[in-house]
Amino acid sequence: AVERVHERRAKYVAGAQSTYYETPVQMVRGWRHWLYDSAGRRYLDLINNVAVVGHSHPALTAAAARQMALLNTNSRFLYDAMGEYAERLADTLPEELHTFFFVNSGSEAVDLAVQLARVYTGRRSVVVIEGAYHGWTSDVFALDTLPHDRPRWREELDEHVHVAETPDPYRGRHGARVEPYLESVRRACAEAGPGGGVAAFVVEPLLGSQGGIVPPPGYLAGAYAAVREAGGVCIADEIQVGMGRTGSAFWAFEGQGATPDIVVAAKATGNGHPIGVVACRPEIAAGFGRRAGFFSSTGGGPVSCRVGTAVLDVLRDERLPENARTVGTHLGAELNALAARFPEIGAVYGEGLYRGVDIVEPGADKKPAPAAATQICERMFELGVVIQPTGVELNVLKIKPPLCFDNAAADYFLAQFTRVLEERAQ
Ligand code: PMP
Repeated sequence: AVERVHERRAKYVAGAQSTYYETPVQMVRGWRHWLYDSAGRRYLDLINNVAVVGHSHPALTAAAARQMALLNTNSRFLYDAMGEYAERLADTLPEELHTFFFVNSGSEAVDLAVQLARVYTGRRSVVVIEGAYHGWTSDVFALDTLPHDRPRWREELDEHVHVAETPDPYRGRHGARVEPYLESVRRACAEAGPGGGVAAFVVEPLLGSQGGIVPPPGYLAGAYAAVREAGGVCIADEIQVGMGRTGSAFWAFEGQGATPDIVVAAKATGNGHPIGVVACRPEIAAGFGRRAGFFSSTGGGPVSCRVGTAVLDVLRDERLPENARTVGTHLGAELNALAARFPEIGAVYGEGLYRGVDIVEPGADKKPAPAAATQICERMFELGVVIQPTGVELNVLKIKPPLCFDNAAADYFLAQFTRVLEERAQ
């Protein structure tokens, strides 16, 4: 029974390794954009920007099973799956970013990217955006400026980390004016100067941990220019936003009209199977040497790479980025219509199937309403929709479903969401 599952987990697994819901609910099966619990209830999955092609896709199951039955071993043997996956990833990326490293997760990928930038530049400082989350390894924790994801035992920001202002057109100090935000990046780079200069600038092309904020046009290209001017390397964290989710481009940096020096991807890469990718300029990779400068025993293993390749196949064959654009446009328009109708919605963020709904206190000038956001998520759960709050104030509902999400699923979500907003307005 679900109580037994809950008890056993609580007994043996650290409390910090928490679950989305405190109420015991045991998910036993997933299919496309649906999750099923042990009582047979079905939930629409809006949280899951991991299962990018949908849950339990048969092509992925087959690819994993086939390779698992043949060989899954240390990544330091020569096998074709890694080269094949790298070649397929290269097809999606600009020519200068065709050198890859493979690891197991997003945190490891960001950590490795920062190490590469540090070795390449011979410097240590990193510039990040306020309210960012980039992962959990020791060095990457130091980059996290999102208050609630920052472990309490790590209160001080690392002395090598410098923070630039969030380029937030809705709530930011400078509205949609791009220049003051670029100035803030220049200032952070200059601050890094005394410690030996900036090694890297790490940013999500659309700001996922801040709620899915789209920076003002020209921000990313301008920030990259400022960082390069200061001698730093630009790292795009595409872990949440990449792989067709925004609908406008396969990688979000393309949609923002800028090209980084290093791209990191994870989550969606393996549709739940662990695989993290670092794509970089060849001269940056060269900093680690030619042989044995780096290895990860399971990162980029045969099964991971076959699954990664199968994810790319499905994205292409089922035209899922195009679907993200079509369904995302419909969803965005309907969410904006709800924002016009309900004063609890302050803003709608994002592009494609990468969306955030900013919940505010009505009439209180954009004041974030985290308690209301939590209540909305709890009520949505009762109505069979899995959705969670995100953002610096935890007041933004994040909507990042699998990219097989169709108009019927979007309308199902919109109907439940409208119902909840109506109940609350009474
Ligand atoms: N960067 C971003 C933007 C993320 O959202 C996450 C995961 N939430 C990470 C890095 C870390 O990835 P992982 O959990 O796979 O280590």
